[in-house]
Amino acid sequence: MAASGDKIDYVFKVVLIGDSAVGKSQILARFARNEFSLDSKATIGVEFQTRTLVIQHKSVKAQIWDTAGQERYRAVTSAYYRGAVGALLVYDITKRQSFDHIPRWLEELRGHADKNIVIMLVGNKSDLEDQRAVSTEDAKEFAQKEGLFFLETSALEATNVEAAFMTVLTEIFGIIS
Ligand code: GDP
Ligand code: MG
Repeated sequence: MAASGDKIDYVFKVVLIGDSAVGKSQILARFARNEFSLDSKATIGVEFQTRTLVIQHKSVKAQIWDTAGQERYRAVTSAYYRGAVGALLVYDITKRQSFDHIPRWLEELRGHADKNIVIMLVGNKSDLEDQRAVSTEDAKEFAQKEGLFFLETSALEATNVEAAFMTVLTEIFGIIS
């Protein structure tokens, strides 16, 4: 952790996208504040949260953008994607539809973002194994085909959330440094 007042070497904008209710806001709450809430209201107001980390002795401020519920109407604007160097493309492993919509989100992302954007496919709610509707193999295969990183996470149990962001941030760091 960089001490407050330290200089920031890099700011990386990372966006969260995917269907409503897949857990985007809770993934962010887990990463930025190590918090989780089971009855999270649709995010209102706050556009992004930040966390500053050290990668190879450089201080990197991750600026993570969360939708304010616009994804429900597929009305995420181009301003949301502007300047993003990383993305977490999130589905819910218990909701097949949220995985079936991933190609559409990917297309939208690729249409708006930088061509070198680093993308992590995230299957969230891995704690709900008994309700699984998307196999790990299907997702892995899709990610491989599209050249995406892939991890299954649980914001509730704090599984792989840190790893998902760190993989994306470290990869971005490697590209730009
Ligand atoms: P968003 O619309 O994509 O931002 O989704 P939210 O973060 O608001 O989460 C939607 C619902 O899923 C909330 O009730 C969360 O508590 C719940 N949720 C989010 N992540 C997880 C998880 O990893 N496991 C479980 N069991 N529930 C989760
Ligand atoms: Mg949300």
